[in-house]
This record gives sequence, C-alpha cells and structure tokens, in this order.
Amino acid sequence: MECPHCHGELEAGNIISPRDPIFWCPNGEKAGFFTTARGLERRGGFRLTRSFERTAEAWYCRTCNRLTVFDAKAK
Ligand SMILES: [Zn+2]
Repeated sequence: MECPHCHGELEAGNIISPRDPIFWCPNGEKAGFFTTARGLERRGGFRLTRSFERTAEAWYCRTCNRLTVFDAKAK
C-alpha cells in the first residue's frame, strides 16, 4: 500500500493498547478514565476499537514516520 503523504511503501501493523480500547480525540479534548463511546462522540472523538479490542490496524511509513489508519472508526 502507498503512503498518501510521500507515496512510499506502507508497512502493515497494529496500534496496540495493553489494557484499554483505543480512542481518537480532537485537539483540546481528553479521553477521561471512564470515558464512554457516547461521551467521547459528544466531544467530537470516536473509538478506533470496540470496547473489548486492544489493537487497531494501521500502516506505518518509515520514510516520513507517519501512521495511517484508513478505516478508523470501530464497527
Ligand atoms: Zn510517507
């Protein structure tokens, strides 16, 4: 797969959390200790994984050191 930034080769892998689901939050927002998916969505964020999952598929570009998540929202 091609990096959307530098067009180099992306390496398949996973973002891994040892304990908790993985969230994305806009700048200025925080995922609190007991964050619910609904509470996070009210602040513009979302889960990258379902509540019982600890890995999110992502691709890494070693040329520009960026992670790319093409389908970020948990199903
Ligand atoms: Zn790149």
